[in-house]
Amino acid sequence: MRIVLVGPPGAGKGTQAAFLANNLSIPHISTGDLFRANISQKTELGKLAKSYMDRGELVPDEVTIAMAKDRMEKPDAVNGFLLDGFPRNVSQAEALDEMLQSEGMKLDAVLDLEVPEAEVVKRIAGRRICRNDSAHVFHVTYKQPAKEGVCDVCGGELYQRDDDSEETVRKRLEVYHTQTEPIIDYYKAQGLVVTISALGKVEDVTSRAMEALRREDHAA
Ligand code: ADP
Repeated sequence: MRIVLVGPPGAGKGTQAAFLANNLSIPHISTGDLFRANISQKTELGKLAKSYMDRGELVPDEVTIAMAKDRMEKPDAVNGFLLDGFPRNVSQAEALDEMLQSEGMKLDAVLDLEVPEAEVVKRIAGRRICRNDSAHVFHVTYKQPAKEGVCDVCGGELYQRDDDSEETVRKRLEVYHTQTEPIIDYYKAQGLVVTISALGKVEDVTSRAMEALRREDHAA
């Protein structure tokens, strides 16, 4: 399956993507994670990306699309992938369509995670992420690790993302509304969108998502 995940920052895309990709045996491709890997490896792309990410803005399309394409062309992605954080505006969605069409492929579903804005702000402000794996996510009040600052899963160091400050979160939400939300209508026109609520327990959201994708798969 080829799936795109959309939803505001803090909707739980990364958390859900890890479970879904595992259940569906497809790679989880996160442009945010790819940029963060470049930042920690201090590459030129990382330096460029960081300057945009720290302001809550989108990294320019040209480099983002090239990076995503490069990742989607890796051998593990031939039978499908779960995209998280890409596309993030209509021109990236168009580029993805072109890319897939040229290979005779198409998307199977766009999973839209819905969550109220007040909840988003609470989730992000307290979010702590493991340095080893961004799918190991904790929260200072909602999901405390057994030992403060240490990942329960792998013992890695927990940290707060530079772009999770309140000011940057507000900017990221604005960018989401103006630039990313329009891709939902773009994909609705292709009949691909399934919307689910991202509220409640992580495992409940995962089962809701799996159920919605199964229905979509049968409908296709
Ligand atoms: P979140 O979904 O919580 O906002 P991500 O890790 O997906 O976090 O993205 C963090 C930042 O990385 C974004 O605010 C943006 O600056 C950059 N980024 C990620 N994906 C893209 C993309 N497809 N196009 C442009 N910038 C992106």
